[in-house]
Amino acid sequence: MIEIAIYGKGGIGKSTLSANLSAALALAGRRVLQIGCDPKHDSTRLLTHGQKPTTALDYMRVTNPLDYKIEDILLQGFCGVGCVEAGGPEPGVGCAGRGIISTFDLLNQFQLKERYDTIIYDVLGDVVCGGFAVPIRQEYADIIFIVTSGEFMALYAANNILRGIRNYDNEKKRVAGILYNRRDIEGEDEHVLRFAQAVGLPICAVIPRSDAFIQAERTNMTVIEQGSDRDIIDIFLTLARKIANGCTLYAAKPLTDELLEVVVQGRSGKSGVQPGVEPQVTSAPEAGAAPVPVLPEINLADPNRYLSKNVIRSEPLHGCAFNGAMSVSVHIQDAVILAHAPKSCAYITFQTISSSGRRSLFERGALLPVSITPNLECTEIGEAEVIFGGMEKLEKKVREIKAAKPRAIVVVSSCPAGIIGDDIDKVRLLADPELPVVTIKADGNMAGDYLQGMLMCYTSLARQIIRKDVPVVPDTVNIVFEKIVVKHTNDNFQVINGFLSRLGLKVNCRFLYETTYDSVENFCSAQLNLLAYKDYTGKLLRDFFTREYGSVFYDAAFPVGFAETEEWLRGVAAFFGRTETAEAIISEHKESYQREVKALKPVLSGKRLMIITYNHELDWILETAVDVGIEVVKIGILNFSQDEGFRTRLNLPLPVEENYDRDNRESDLERYKPDILLTNYASSIADEVFVADTIPMCPDVGFYTGINMAKRWARLLRLNLKGEWRQDEKLFKQYYA
Ligand code: SF4
Repeated sequence: MIEIAIYGKGGIGKSTLSANLSAALALAGRRVLQIGCDPKHDSTRLLTHGQKPTTALDYMRVTNPLDYKIEDILLQGFCGVGCVEAGGPEPGVGCAGRGIISTFDLLNQFQLKERYDTIIYDVLGDVVCGGFAVPIRQEYADIIFIVTSGEFMALYAANNILRGIRNYDNEKKRVAGILYNRRDIEGEDEHVLRFAQAVGLPICAVIPRSDAFIQAERTNMTVIEQGSDRDIIDIFLTLARKIANGCTLYAAKPLTDELLEVVVQGRSGKSGVQPGVEPQVTSAPEAGAAPVPVLPEINLADPNRYLSKNVIRSEPLHGCAFNGAMSVSVHIQDAVILAHAPKSCAYITFQTISSSGRRSLFERGALLPVSITPNLECTEIGEAEVIFGGMEKLEKKVREIKAAKPRAIVVVSSCPAGIIGDDIDKVRLLADPELPVVTIKADGNMAGDYLQGMLMCYTSLARQIIRKDVPVVPDTVNIVFEKIVVKHTNDNFQVINGFLSRLGLKVNCRFLYETTYDSVENFCSAQLNLLAYKDYTGKLLRDFFTREYGSVFYDAAFPVGFAETEEWLRGVAAFFGRTETAEAIISEHKESYQREVKALKPVLSGKRLMIITYNHELDWILETAVDVGIEVVKIGILNFSQDEGFRTRLNLPLPVEENYDRDNRESDLERYKPDILLTNYASSIADEVFVADTIPMCPDVGFYTGINMAKRWARLLRLNLKGEWRQDEKLFKQYYA
């Protein structure tokens, strides 16, 4: 595939040239896609007979990401040329450069380019900001043409474009040359030729000023299609052949502003070059120049669009993707996580991570395992970086951090970095064999909510870190998607790890929780993968690993309650041929579970339980309730967009009401007269009930989740706390002991 960027000053005719070139390439048998990257969105109109595709940016504004269909923004033009327009805001508002970045992200999601063998980017005049420079990044254009006339401002813009290219390429050769679009002004040939000679570029085509273009435009066609001027058609066909046969490419060698003036005005003397003749390359790169480093080939595009539910449902975003990506990344404990962000973004993230640690100090005496002082660094983007770009500061910071020799550096971008188009992937070139630099283009909340940032972190880090060529180590498992914001995550891990140890199994990698760079790198060593949570995000991750790494997953999440734990143990043990050990563990626990049930029955049997909850899986409570003889009188399931409806495997007639209306709680209390009320959050109506308890959104794992809760109810019932327990300091402490 060849990707060609055509840059030129606004109004210089680059859209007309691009469309004619696309048409000529298509006639020569190429499968061509033309992407208009100008907010004017008229790049492709001559290919589509004036029909305007819905621009990518208008489309994204009004369409739910799950409903995206590439056909909605892709038109078929002359000779099958695919036509896409990025679009953009009205002049003077918004940020058109950011629009280019969003459009390219969208096209990457669709893998649209893979359907074509030639891509033409028609890009707005000057390289005005990082966004408009996206097509000249290394992962896009292989060949760059610069359109100019002999007017000073057109040549000034051409020189600026060369500056933009040099910022990305240094000495790399990607510029094919100049497309000279004649305006027929005085001394024009000489201006262009002197400029071409000074910057060391050939003039690849000279397009005469001709009425043929005007006539073709009147009929909304290219000259190629209209066929009115054979000479012009030949110019484009020759150019198409040149491209197809492989153009010679040159490094960008822009002039200083002073020199540009001198060169164009001819104050330095005669050029001695004839129009139509390729000027000599006066500043070709020296032989033996150091090779320009190229980013390793990692496909960071998300072809399958791992989107959070908030993004899909266009709900208000909870947190930002930057924050989510940072919060997960800090779990690679031997890496430094570098926020390419203003100080305030890093501060918010630091608070998010550390406050959950502090909060846990006060709750039930348990310390959250997440470090209270995570390995965060920040580039502290400010006004100057927003105006002039933040890459220099980012590179400097990466070099500074490298000096401290962490195991790795993870760079995460925030909104401002994304808006100004900083290509943070470039700092991956600063990696050493022993000190990798990996990147997550979260771009703050440009990319989505906290969960979206988590997903981007999981998938980006996996793609950059995990090695596929590692040998499988027998009797090892990975644990995937432990929740980072749940305070008993490590307790749950201990329970699961206890079972695994009994089965003779070792944990290879916790992805991503309190882990190390090396264990992530060796992810593929594990024989089996265990999903901690099988909710929406957990399932996305399972699909991601299965699809991209061929990972084998055990089908159930970490088990909650007796029946699930029994089944989970049997399943995992069967995979490793350890069935007997599993049966031994189960029978030990069965005995102790039944002892507990027997002890609780006298207090709980016949009691009435009402549950109003966001949890959509309650079997672990219901099985224990049934075992101890509690009557379940009402289950009200509250609507929770992150879950998928009430599910049970118990074969019981259950009084379930889905989409429960919380306004009915008081009347239902009156009606069902429960002894025990179970809700997610303590509520004012709890005072009306003998025992009110809260149900955790992420319950403990293992055999005893349900029975432990029932034990608490029994204790509260025995204590007969109604009406007085809130005042009784002693009992309060005992309850939380
Ligand atoms: S939304 Fe953007 S500006 Fe706000 S904290 Fe996130 S990255 Fe920073």
